[in-house]
Amino acid sequence: MSRQMRYRYVGTPDPMSQREQYHCEKYMKRNKANMLEAGAYLVDVTALRTLFHLDCGNCRTVHRQTCCEGGQPYAVEPHQAALLDREIPAIAGYFAARGWSQHWAQKPVWDERQPAGTLRLEHEKCVFFQEMNGQFGCAVHAYAEQTGGELDVKPFSCRLYPLDLIDTGEAILLTAVTEETAPFSRWGSDYLEQFYCASLSRRQLAVHLDEQHFAIEGYRPAYTWNLPLLRYLLQAEAERVEAMLQGHDNDAWQEHAG
Ligand code: SF4
Repeated sequence: MSRQMRYRYVGTPDPMSQREQYHCEKYMKRNKANMLEAGAYLVDVTALRTLFHLDCGNCRTVHRQTCCEGGQPYAVEPHQAALLDREIPAIAGYFAARGWSQHWAQKPVWDERQPAGTLRLEHEKCVFFQEMNGQFGCAVHAYAEQTGGELDVKPFSCRLYPLDLIDTGEAILLTAVTEETAPFSRWGSDYLEQFYCASLSRRQLAVHLDEQHFAIEGYRPAYTWNLPLLRYLLQAEAERVEAMLQGHDNDAWQEHAG
């Protein structure tokens, strides 16, 4: 296998294109000084400090379509598909008890015409995107959140945003979607161009919005939106990396960055 073909997005069988791999490789070379080595991971400090506001509850209020309405972003790996299949009866029971729709329990949630692990679309929306008590959102996420369960059952890529994980064969790049990473990130440039969550500058220009929706003061670094995952991945290195990302350890970072 060539060096380029070793690159892959972690947590999905969907491949990176050669072009994405090329851009990723170039980016990593160009930004070497901003990368922190932590075990198997290369931590992209600049990208992870980029500001986001995942005000998902207000997404539909300000955008015509949320990111789930075009479908699930990436297929899941076989072990996650099996986990979701196992959990569906419990999720359906929970929804039935509340009088919420469980239309996805009536037939397989997988789209057999697509690569394995791809969720079915219904009316161009991910099969799990639905109304619950007047709010629109992800049925799997709502179930995990309301029952205090693990979010593992929610498709990995859906949980990952705005972060990204790319296995280069030599290390795993831990980054986030930014203007610079968009050419190779699994998230592409859609979020930056269309959604306020990923673009503080667009939000600052949107003076017509209610100030409570995607509130400007609510933007915070990418890594803080997914601390449990960051800590799970980095294990013993997590504390050191968080200190660097928070800027508490700027002396050590400057020494590292040379
Ligand atoms: S599984 Fe949930 S978060 Fe992922 S696309 Fe579907 S509705 Fe959205």
